[in-house]
Amino acid sequence: MTIKNKLRAGFGFLFLLAIVCSGLSIYFLNRLSADSSVILKDNHETIVYMRNIAVAIDQSNGQLNSDQVQAVESNLVKQEHNITEPGEQQATDSLRSKYEQLKLLGGDLAKQAYLRTELRALLFRIMKLNMDAEEHKNAVAKATAQSATILVALIGSFLFLVAFTFIINFPGYVANPLRELTERIKEISRRNYHQRLDFKSNDEFGELAEAFNNMTFQLNEYESSNLANIMFEKRRIETIINSMRDGIIGLNEKSYIIFVNTVACTLIGIPEENLIGRYAPDVALENDLFRNLMVADQKKIKIYADNRESYFSKQTQSVVSKDRVIGKVIILNNITEYQQLDEAKTNFIATISHELKTPISSIKMSLKLLEDERVGKINDEQKQLLGNIEDDSRRLLQITGELLDMAQVETGKLNLNFGSTHPKNIVDYAVKAVKFTADQRQVSINVQYDDNLPQVYADLDKTTWVLINLLSNAIKYSHEKSTVDLTIKKVKGDVEFSVKDHGQGIETKYLSRIFERYFKVPGSKAEQTGTGLGLAIAKDFIEAQSGKIGVESDLGEGSRFYFTLKKAA
Ligand code: ADP
Repeated sequence: MTIKNKLRAGFGFLFLLAIVCSGLSIYFLNRLSADSSVILKDNHETIVYMRNIAVAIDQSNGQLNSDQVQAVESNLVKQEHNITEPGEQQATDSLRSKYEQLKLLGGDLAKQAYLRTELRALLFRIMKLNMDAEEHKNAVAKATAQSATILVALIGSFLFLVAFTFIINFPGYVANPLRELTERIKEISRRNYHQRLDFKSNDEFGELAEAFNNMTFQLNEYESSNLANIMFEKRRIETIINSMRDGIIGLNEKSYIIFVNTVACTLIGIPEENLIGRYAPDVALENDLFRNLMVADQKKIKIYADNRESYFSKQTQSVVSKDRVIGKVIILNNITEYQQLDEAKTNFIATISHELKTPISSIKMSLKLLEDERVGKINDEQKQLLGNIEDDSRRLLQITGELLDMAQVETGKLNLNFGSTHPKNIVDYAVKAVKFTADQRQVSINVQYDDNLPQVYADLDKTTWVLINLLSNAIKYSHEKSTVDLTIKKVKGDVEFSVKDHGQGIETKYLSRIFERYFKVPGSKAEQTGTGLGLAIAKDFIEAQSGKIGVESDLGEGSRFYFTLKKAA
């Protein structure tokens, strides 16, 4: 039966009981009132008639007067129409005959007295008959009232019990399944899909349970197939990661190691099972290489593993999901091959540039001799050509010089001659060196010093080379007749050299690459003339002296290159 029908039946039953109860009450009340009206009509009225007749008879001892006759007559007729009790008819008939006799009797007083006595006896008999009947009927009515009270009380109690049970059980009947359903749904929201509802009833709750169980079954199926897919994909990714030549280490957002591939394990020298699930800083404490990976800012790492030296470039990548960092991946790219090629290239460049320097110098020397008139007179056109050759050989010498410097830096053969010197020495030397070019372009160099500048601890030659390079660039990229500001000041205990021009400036997107080897801003003048090495070497020179080098620039406004040097102790 459906809940709807159950509710209908329940309420209908209660309604029926209420109707039965009130029907019975009305029935018994009617019966009681009928009983009392019967008593009143059947018996009480007879008693009244008898009393009226007795009063009329007893008013005189002699002949009945007309009032008395009428009173007796009318009451007797009423009585004759109100015969209700057994024996009453007979007594009433006797009463009629005795009365008729009394009426016809003459002045015989003795006879009259005798008839009156008989009449009274009859009257008394009829009255007694009716009084007895009254008493009996009263007893019957009392019994009826009593049984009505008991019946109504019984039905009322039954009704109360039914209603009480209904009130106690009905809310639970509706609410319990709903509560259980809520509990199960909460479990499902915790991804616990093994939920079942056991409502055995054949009603809507039964249907609900069936639908719910069906749903959890489907969810479970879906979850298991999903899980299987995820596991499969996980294995696939693990296989890919493991078959890579690069070392890969994955950390979660709390720096616990969540995966590490075979290459990384070999490099670190710790088996995978001893790494997974460990707190990375703890591993760093006991393993130098891991410490390097975690903390050191160096990009290139030399690792001695498998009886040979290998080079790896470290790349740390944050894993971001929905704008939240959920971990990071450290990738160790095996760059040994490139490193070897790079070294070979550097050695080659070093050798070539070194070898080129001597013939170029002798070309320059020969040019100087040719310019001397004692060697022979040359015409203007030849002079012009010789000038061109001299320019080119000067540039060639500069380029070979830069290449050699770079090779020295790269092979770690950079020898620095540290000494304590005043910044002014560096500035004077550099400004003198670029004066000719500046004058040619009518660019004035505006030098400004802080007062009381300290001595710096630096390699005078290399630092001067850097400043010359920055000044040359500034002049090269300045508009004609503009100014280059060279400022030297104290910054946080160091000394900063700043070269600011008012030229074309550099686009922001190129700023981070400006110190890279061979990088030239596309479309700039230096693209045709320079090597793109000057700033890279300058960076190496400055960083080798524990200084910092940097650039700021606004396109169309100019650029500011600066570097710092440690002050002398
Ligand atoms: P190059 O020998 O080619 O000048 P650098 O390393 O000195 O090489 O400079 C690298 C590049 O940086 C140049 O090609 C040029 O595009 C850009 N650059 C350097 N200095 C400036 C400057 N003051 N203003 C604008 N661009 C500059």
